[in-house]
Amino acid sequence: SRCLQAVWCGRHPAGGPSPLWKVTIMPDTTTANGKRRPLVMGNWKMNGRLARNEALLTELKAGLASGFDAIDVAVCPPAPYLGQASKLVAGSAITYGAQNLSTEQDGAYTGEVSSGMLTDLGVKWVLVGHSERRSLYGETDETVAKKTQVALEAGLIPVVCIGETLEERKTGDTEVVLARQLDAVLPVLGSQPASAFVLAYEPVWAIGTGLTATPEQAQEVHRFLRDRLASSGYAQAQEARILYGGSVKAANAGELFAQPDVDGGLVGGASLVANEFIGIAKGAVASLGA
Ligand code: PEP
Repeated sequence: SRCLQAVWCGRHPAGGPSPLWKVTIMPDTTTANGKRRPLVMGNWKMNGRLARNEALLTELKAGLASGFDAIDVAVCPPAPYLGQASKLVAGSAITYGAQNLSTEQDGAYTGEVSSGMLTDLGVKWVLVGHSERRSLYGETDETVAKKTQVALEAGLIPVVCIGETLEERKTGDTEVVLARQLDAVLPVLGSQPASAFVLAYEPVWAIGTGLTATPEQAQEVHRFLRDRLASSGYAQAQEARILYGGSVKAANAGELFAQPDVDGGLVGGASLVANEFIGIAKGAVASLGA
């Protein structure tokens, strides 16, 4: 069962031709055996150059060419390379996303990239509220909710990132923090089908540190988030995909993704190494048999 989503696009600001509605076929989040379809997404952060990107995507295309139909694989290059990525992944099952988007559309917002620009480039996913955006660029829960809404209105699939710091975990505030971050986006996500968004649990203490949450720690939080989605009245909590992020690599992906509420991974450092990323995708495929 595939879901049709109609998005109001409005009029072109300059009065030019523009579709009034854009109809998108949303991907299903469940596999034939009723499990959620895993998603493995690479966040390249501010890394890449034309030649390096081409080498990496060429290797990924070859390495992921067969045996990965049951999962979704995506890369999120820096914005200037989205056009390059679109050409390089053409004809493969690899999709691509952006790492950020503006809350605004066209106008005097120097340095910003709008949702319309991303959809022009064929972008499918967009990270929202990554902990680096929250801690380094002052993004608040309100900004994250607004960006999530803007992404949804454009037909982009927001990958909403939430996670606690080490200090918050140590003081026993993990669930309080996650509840606050999730509740901020629930009014926006609550009316959406599960295929329209993704959640990513990324403990800040595990991002880029080499420290990974244990599979049990990840499962505990993922279950908490799914339960909270359900108790908020969200009817598709069982279909919503919740990724784990934080030092995922080929060696630990299998045991993380085998957890019942972990639906794949958001991968930083290891997504820049073709064999690692392919190994992580294999872990996601293996989790379907678990
Ligand atoms: C990330 O940036 O989303 C991330 C999880 O990074 P890393 O895998 O390097 O910890």
